[in-house]
Amino acid sequence: MEAEKEKEKEMREWCVALPKVELHAHLNGSVRDSTLLELAKQLGDKGDIVFEDVKDVIMKNGRSLPECFRLFELYHILTTDHDTVTRITKEVVEDFAMENVVYLEIRTTPKNNEAKGMTKRSYMNAVIKGLKTVEAVEVVLFDSNSRADKTPMSELGGDTRKKKIYVRLLLSIDRRETTLAALDTVNLAMEMKDQGVIGIDLSGNPVVGEWETYLPALEHAKELGIPITIHCGEVANRNEIRAVLDFCPQRLGHVCCLNDEEWKKLKSLMIPVEICLTSNVMTGGAPSLELHHFADLYNAKHPLSLCTDDSGLFSTSLSNEYYLVASTFGLSKAELFQLAQDAVEFVFAGDELKRSLRELFERVGKELTT
Ligand SMILES: [Zn+2]
Repeated sequence: MEAEKEKEKEMREWCVALPKVELHAHLNGSVRDSTLLELAKQLGDKGDIVFEDVKDVIMKNGRSLPECFRLFELYHILTTDHDTVTRITKEVVEDFAMENVVYLEIRTTPKNNEAKGMTKRSYMNAVIKGLKTVEAVEVVLFDSNSRADKTPMSELGGDTRKKKIYVRLLLSIDRRETTLAALDTVNLAMEMKDQGVIGIDLSGNPVVGEWETYLPALEHAKELGIPITIHCGEVANRNEIRAVLDFCPQRLGHVCCLNDEEWKKLKSLMIPVEICLTSNVMTGGAPSLELHHFADLYNAKHPLSLCTDDSGLFSTSLSNEYYLVASTFGLSKAELFQLAQDAVEFVFAGDELKRSLRELFERVGKELTT
């Protein structure tokens, strides 16, 4: 028993030390519980919410699905002012960097909120301000020939230099939005492409909205050359799954409820999949960890990367997702390393950054797998 615990501890530590690439992380869903509690307390004091009603669900580990939805609602209430958006962005980046995520794509839905004087643009400015105020780690926001990009990546473990993390932003179109609002988001992504915004995501409640509503905006993004990722098959909406596969975005999130024909099509298209194990099991997209479609896609050598989706909401971390793959499907350290390294090929950032990431994995590979 002791030996088993020791083995688990060693493996968990190894998964933290492993450099990782996070491609599917929603800003709001990645907020620290301690911050959420503090913000809820402030709102409670102002009389905007009843703090006692939400306290327990915030402090709970391993939430039920209805509790997750309650937290989702709370995120929307909590993130309506610029300072809060800046703060949570800063903390989310720090948290990912501390567990050795070396490249992070954060996705977020730019919001208009007239009452708070917030526009989609000012919301995004608050996010970018958050990235720039990170001090605990070094954040590299731009491609091109910025000098910061030339500095060597800090070595793993015991190094007193700051950890370094590349961060890029994806703008999410929420399924509740109109065609015009979705088009606004795509145009904003284009305007902000020199500020770290590199892609578009389609997300939100999967039973809300119609594919046809967002299609013009997604087509527009495609014409502009902006990479796209789409939440696909969270529910068994046959028409939409077919339409999404036909659209052939650069990446897909989740892909839970596909039928045989759709799996076949996905595999033939080789569209990389963002796998979110804990999220899928907790929200019912997969029946259990053991029966998660990761195994089938992995065995088929389909391109995929492990992701958290909402690390705060689902009480997980990217290191934990790697650990779950090892403990559930029996992957070796070498196989886990390969999985992390392969994700580099699916990032939306440019070739120069990809090269830097490839070099990093080459450098640490031997040390971690022998
Ligand atoms: Zn998601």
